[in-house]
Formats: sequence, C-alpha cells, structure tokens
Amino acid sequence: MALGPTQPRHCPICGSNVTQPEYVSASLEVDRCADCGHRFSHHAEWRETSDYYEHTPQRARFVSSLQYTRRRQARVMLSRFARLGELSDWLDFGCGRGWFLEEARTRASGPIAGFDSSVISRSWLRQRGILAAEPLTDDPFWPDWASLPFSPRIVSLLDVVEHLAQGDAERLLRRLREELPALEWLLLKVPASEGILYRIAHALRNAFPGLYLQLHQVGTSPAHHHYFSHQSLQTLVVNAGYVVVDLMVDHDVDNVFHRSAALERLPGGELAGRLIRIGPADSVIIIARVGPRVEAAARA
Ligand SMILES: [Zn+2]
Repeated sequence: MALGPTQPRHCPICGSNVTQPEYVSASLEVDRCADCGHRFSHHAEWRETSDYYEHTPQRARFVSSLQYTRRRQARVMLSRFARLGELSDWLDFGCGRGWFLEEARTRASGPIAGFDSSVISRSWLRQRGILAAEPLTDDPFWPDWASLPFSPRIVSLLDVVEHLAQGDAERLLRRLREELPALEWLLLKVPASEGILYRIAHALRNAFPGLYLQLHQVGTSPAHHHYFSHQSLQTLVVNAGYVVVDLMVDHDVDNVFHRSAALERLPGGELAGRLIRIGPADSVIIIARVGPRVEAAARA
C-alpha cells in the first residue's frame, strides 16, 4: 500500500509549517521540522492489534540484550531522580515487561505501580507481585485511576510517546496533569535524532535503508511516529504545562548485533556497542516538574 500524495505538514510538536521531507518511500515518509529538529513519520502499514506484544520481536538474544540495557538505564534514571525527590507513589505508564519497576522496587520508599495497554504485560507484573493499574472499560489505552490504591505523584513514560500518533503525546501529558491532582513529577525517555545510530542511518538511508527503517520500526505495531531532538522534547514538555528540571542522555544499545535478527549470531556485538558509545547518545531523558496549575486557579 502506497502513501497518498504528500500534503503540506505542520510540526506536531512546535506547530511550525517549515518542514522538509527527509525520506519518502512506499512504506514510510519522514519529515523534519526546520525550527525544532523534530522528525515525524507516516507509515503505510498500520496494523491494529489487540495486544502489541504479538507484533514485537521476541527473539531470546534481543529480549536478553534489551533487558540488560533497560535495567542499566533504570538504575541510572532512579539515581538521578533520587537527588530531586522521594521514590514513592510512582506509576510507570507503558511499563512493558516491568524491568524498570523491578529496579524501582528495590529503592522505593512507598508504593509503585505499572500500567500497560497489553494484557500480557499486566499479567507479568502481577506474577512478580507488582501492582498493575487496570484500563478504563471503554478505553484500553488509559488507566482507571480508581483501580490504584494511591494517587500517582510521579509518572514515568519510558520509550512510549514516540509510538503515539501525531498530537497525542501532548494530549497525554496534559491529561495526566488534569486528572492527577497529586502529580508533581514527570520522567520521559525518547529516542534522539542527534544520536550516533540515527546519524549513521540517516547518512545511509538511500543506499542502505535497512537501519533507517528499523529505527522507525517500520512493519511493527505500534511503529515509531516520532524521533525527537533535544529541543523538540523540551518543547513538548513545556507546551504540555511542565517545567524541565533535568535533561540527560544515554546510549540506548549495549550490544549492537543483538538488536538485529540478521546480525545477532555475530560475535563482537558488545565491542561494537562500546565503539558506538564514543558517539552522541541515542536517547534523551527529561525530568520535569508540573508547572503552575493556572487552569485550576482560574476556576477557583
Ligand atoms: Zn517543530
């Protein structure tokens, strides 16, 4: 299925109408915002699925490598956050396999919980004795806050908002502010287009598009609809009513070869990972505080 004729497009993050096509093919179109550097994409294939785990890679080497990286990143983020606030009343939104929550549990001083639209994910959490928020009966993608025994003070969204359709990321962040009166902190992690992997993929995108298509997760559901710049992530957070307190970067891959089915049996993936880490980091992480609740003040 080919994409339709390209229409003038506005940046979904900063609203600029100065955008440039970066990549055009039958399966994927990517535009870059000239003002904030955000990349946003349009995929030809969009397979709706009842449980996204049925359409994500489950190869043993991939999952093992991903777990190693995500647990390491969780420890880094938790240490960084601990300088700012107490690790309690924490909800990990889009918690996937629960690796972040397992690391958080060893440090938390109060309750923690996860939410995921995947039934499989929520089942994994419960098997490990971690609280899982239930979805609303009429919306499997949004938590029923009444299913939690606490009101979240901290919400993390790790590798989540890049999967959302355009405009939905800001709506999600605004809705959290509006529905959670106790919310103080937001922790966001997204893939960064300044990273070495994106730079390599971008340079090779026409001659060898494989890595570029993989980074945009073409053919998986849900695919990546966004690739953030440091600036566009900060713009998203500020526009949704938060104040950026801390920004850090992290290399998103520890074993390069384990992320690709074609390469995973090759030796030297960790060495390649160390070489990759000499270049700019592939993910960007923001800790933000909820801004003044002017809407509530105006209503009072
Ligand atoms: Zn923009």
